[in-house]
Amino acid sequence: MDHSPLSLAQSLLRCPSVTPEEGGALAFIGGVLKEAGFVVHRPVFSEPGTPDVENLYARYGQGEPYLLFAGHTDVVPPGDVGRWTHDPFSGEIHGGELYGRGAVDMKGGIACMMAAALEFIRNTPAFKGSIGFLITGDEEGPAVNGTVKLLEWAKGRGERFDHCILGEPTNPNQLGDMIKIGRRGSLTGRVVVEGKQGHVAYPHLADNPIPGMMRLLSELLSEPLDHGTEHFDASNLEMTTVDVGNPASNVIPAEARATFNIRFNDLWTPQSLEQEIDRRLREAAGNTVRYRLVMEPTNAVAFLTPPNAFVGFIADAIEAETGVQPKLSTTGGTSDARFIVKDCPVVEFGLVGQTMHQIDERVPVADLDRLTGIYRKVLDAYFAAAS
Ligand SMILES: [Zn+2]
Repeated sequence: MDHSPLSLAQSLLRCPSVTPEEGGALAFIGGVLKEAGFVVHRPVFSEPGTPDVENLYARYGQGEPYLLFAGHTDVVPPGDVGRWTHDPFSGEIHGGELYGRGAVDMKGGIACMMAAALEFIRNTPAFKGSIGFLITGDEEGPAVNGTVKLLEWAKGRGERFDHCILGEPTNPNQLGDMIKIGRRGSLTGRVVVEGKQGHVAYPHLADNPIPGMMRLLSELLSEPLDHGTEHFDASNLEMTTVDVGNPASNVIPAEARATFNIRFNDLWTPQSLEQEIDRRLREAAGNTVRYRLVMEPTNAVAFLTPPNAFVGFIADAIEAETGVQPKLSTTGGTSDARFIVKDCPVVEFGLVGQTMHQIDERVPVADLDRLTGIYRKVLDAYFAAAS
């Protein structure tokens, strides 16, 4: 069987695994890994109100250290298929590029992880340690029956990981640009200012909530939350909507609502942020503005994997393979790394993200070979250091 990263990626792209459909992708991975000597599990998780989702966990070896590759095979919908140059589920190559939904996010990355692991095991069959794959089918959707439950399930079986590489597309422009060593947290809050409805010509009989809301919001935005830390940008509070919903020009509305989202760094927890927001609102409100603050529950806390020997293995492998010195970054949205980091240090490195979620998502075939080379060098260095 051909276990080149290209052929593995093509096989995966041909599986229509739009969340929550498995589409044959996990079955394919399981088959290849099993043949190579991995012990493969395919747990299915359910939750009322969400679709059942298939997942995969595979391990080669019993010993320590245990290096885990993590990722997802589900993809976002292709959109208007007619606008694709090549069918999004055909795995066609054109001009040195492999087309298909998931080419970079992240079936291409998974193919490279698999190719690297299989090559490493073939070349170093007696290595000391374990290699695992933790692959979910629920990252792009509700993300309820995926990584969180898969980690719990693995822990319940006594599995302990030492380090993890998550293969999301981390590079903005070229392969080797960027490793993600952490992610910001995300917290959403809602403010409601209560007034009293009335006629605009008789304002003394009403209480307009809009001036109060303006005062609260300008206080929220008046001072930066912080100025950033060694590895993080400054936390950012962004207003996402302010609503009164009043169609009449002669009515003072009863209520004003606003929503904001904060992307926060490692100086904050959701709890400490809520306290700070509440403090600012109370100060601005004084005794005159009646308001309620409700923070949405969040599982997206900020985390950092401090640059250490493990990060060094990856940075060195990238530089050796591409000649590029990667930036260690904590930018961007949240990822499944926020769940994995509770069990072991996790670093994200994958393909170039430029076309992810777009029409004509595609990856240069050369990038697949080079990413496989990088993962392979990481495996060599990681297990050489352990023995
Ligand atoms: Zn992804």
